[in-house]
Amino acid sequence: MKERILVIEDEESIARILQLELEHEGYVVGRASDGRSGIEQASSGDWDLVLLDVMLPELNGIEVLRRLRQAGNPIPIILLTARDTIPDKVSGFEHGANDYVTKPFAMEELLARVRNLLRIFQAQPREAESADVIKTADLAIELRTRKVYRKDLPIELTPREFELLVYLAEHRNEEKSREEILSEVWGYDFIGETNLVDVYIRYLRQKIDKGFRHKLIHTVRGVGYMLKEPDA
Ligand code: CA
Repeated sequence: MKERILVIEDEESIARILQLELEHEGYVVGRASDGRSGIEQASSGDWDLVLLDVMLPELNGIEVLRRLRQAGNPIPIILLTARDTIPDKVSGFEHGANDYVTKPFAMEELLARVRNLLRIFQAQPREAESADVIKTADLAIELRTRKVYRKDLPIELTPREFELLVYLAEHRNEEKSREEILSEVWGYDFIGETNLVDVYIRYLRQKIDKGFRHKLIHTVRGVGYMLKEPDA
């Protein structure tokens, strides 16, 4: 499958050459030309990697980066910095950039960094399928290590969020009432506290579904919730 790369860059000539080169390498390329639309696209599209210019109108690249990470978006990001300055690099990495390239950059170097980062992110959780792993759509839950990945990107969950996700994944494509979820995940001591379920479903959605085109967690009106595979 073709990997999808979002280029957030306001200089038309640079954005255009990046698009041409990346498409030539076989990637699908999207573009945004200011910080605000960059955040929107990065949050709504199903991208494998973002190339993010630092000097952008509306919101600069560091701010875009900060907001994406704050919202829990784990997508690999390469910063394009205008100057090779230590403060730029440090603040880029502090705010969660995975790599950076200094302008003017050699296209070969940039392409190599793109390939490298995509390889690292795709290599992480690829391991033999076993009974210890629940896989549904692009979600993988490792029961033994309690690690969770969506599209091969690691997701941090609290213990209760993890239990809730495992329950929904084990019963994927089945409607579950709030009461059932509550007694199975929290136990009988919590009977009547069904709003707990709503609160934790909201937390899970933030972590599991936000930024992904296909949502896994669905509200079943008048019943409760269901983890649904996109083609189920
Ligand atoms: Ca710029």
